[in-house]
Amino acid sequence: MTTEKRAAKVSKASLHRIFTIPEAPDSKLGIVEREISENLAGFLGNHIAASERALTDIEKDFASSEIPEQPSFVSDHMHHLLDKVVAQSVHTSSPSFIGHMTSALPYFILPLSKLMVGLNQNLVKIETSKAFTPLERQVLGMMHRLVYQNSDDFYQSCMHSASNSLGAFCSGGTIANLTALWVARNNLLKPDGDFKGVAREGLFSALTHYGYKGLAVLVSDRGHYSLKKSADVLGIGQDSVIAIPTDENNKIDCQLLKARCQALTEQNIKILSIVGVAGTTETGNVDPLEEIADIAEQYQCHFHVDAAWGGATLLSNKYRHLMAGIDRADSVTIDAHKQMYVPMGAGLVVFKNPASVAAIEHHAEYILRKGSKDLGSHTLEGSRPGMAMLVYASLHIISRPGYEMLINQGIEKAQHFANLIEQQADFELVTRPELCLLTYRYVPEVVQTALMKANVEQREQLNVLLDKLTKFIQKRQRENGRSFVSRTRIEVSIYDGRKILVFRVVLANPLTSQDILADILTEQLALAKTSQTFLPELLTLAEQVNVSKVG
Ligand SMILES: *Cc1c(COP(=O)(O)O)cnc(C)c1O
Repeated sequence: MTTEKRAAKVSKASLHRIFTIPEAPDSKLGIVEREISENLAGFLGNHIAASERALTDIEKDFASSEIPEQPSFVSDHMHHLLDKVVAQSVHTSSPSFIGHMTSALPYFILPLSKLMVGLNQNLVKIETSKAFTPLERQVLGMMHRLVYQNSDDFYQSCMHSASNSLGAFCSGGTIANLTALWVARNNLLKPDGDFKGVAREGLFSALTHYGYKGLAVLVSDRGHYSLKKSADVLGIGQDSVIAIPTDENNKIDCQLLKARCQALTEQNIKILSIVGVAGTTETGNVDPLEEIADIAEQYQCHFHVDAAWGGATLLSNKYRHLMAGIDRADSVTIDAHKQMYVPMGAGLVVFKNPASVAAIEHHAEYILRKGSKDLGSHTLEGSRPGMAMLVYASLHIISRPGYEMLINQGIEKAQHFANLIEQQADFELVTRPELCLLTYRYVPEVVQTALMKANVEQREQLNVLLDKLTKFIQKRQRENGRSFVSRTRIEVSIYDGRKILVFRVVLANPLTSQDILADILTEQLALAKTSQTFLPELLTLAEQVNVSKVG
């Protein structure tokens, strides 16, 4: 028998075969698929990362910039992918991966995604999507109703109407926020007499015509960086996104917001939008939306709510009240790929007034003709996949009460974890969870005592060492690969407004048990003890502070 290595060849027939469906389940592709599923199941074991190799080592697997001259057999390439990509990726669906908003997916998403990819519908126009267009409009209608709770009649008349748009489906929260501010900008600087509008004439002419010295977007200092990107793209400038300080609960200070609105108005800088955050990325808190709505009304400006992460809370009748006032927003961003358990690439923005989207309407001769129902006439993105089908399916399969269970148990698990942290002598809860996100750090008991007794200078020294220790523990924990929490730097009022480094936990995976949470703290305690420099230094300093004050 020859053991000669088979080589793939390029031919018309072989290329044709790539685009035809293999007939039998025991065909090559069928076998490869089965193997992948099995390997995947093995890979989705207990560890968050199957490979312990450092990123710089992994980069060596992806070093060549040459496009292969030699074709590969699909089965050979699949093995390559399993080794080099699958085995070296991050296992975001592990119940002990609790550091980010990206989490586990329901099992039915895999076959449905295959269907979506196979159909390869392009949602930019009806000619390439047909039923997917009304499907997406219905999903936007459902999400609009979740936020605004309008009447049946309203949705009957708007949902499938060519002249209205309840929202825009897009690839994520960034594009959703950009779309919201784009609509706000074009409605503010709309055509007027000889002036053809900002969309046609640009920002310079628009400001000249309306007599404004500039535009501003106001958001709390916990606002997401996508707002700055949006301001940049829209020509307003990143510096025009003004960060308003937050209170001790990480919510925007409405007194300061109001004062800033007044000052800007007196300077003839028009407020383009006030943005309320419903679930901040770093601490998971919700701004006082009712109060912000009042201020936006007073200054007659667009009110946007960035609920990219927190918006799904509206599906819970028990916790919906945390978002009170969201229905007064002119636009709301929600990411289905965060707390709605849909894979990435599913963001959306809904608009209170379905006619407001006309301000960004675009037409072309071969598609998006005037009066058509093509979705592409109201979206920033052009060609788009049928992701809405996955949201549609999830809303049907899980249903509103199912989502409510997921949301409620996430919030309640975060409360449990917060209590657990508070009961531990050597941990400090930094931000209490309002939704299912919290921050904390490891602070040995003697250091906690020292922090209370220390003067400003000593407190700073202690916090510098604590930052180093937090970073050390977080990196070690990630490298160990058993569990993962993220880290961020946030201002804390009890430490003189200093930015301290904290562990950040997002409890999204329904399979994360109380035991796993307890284990994570145990692991962190053990990792802290392995610190040869920061921990001894910290303890010595704390000792000094404690003794000096007593004596
Ligand atoms: C995640 C997030 C975004 C950005 O969304 P992407 O889907 O990552 O583009 C914007 N705002 C908030 C509050 C978020 O949590």
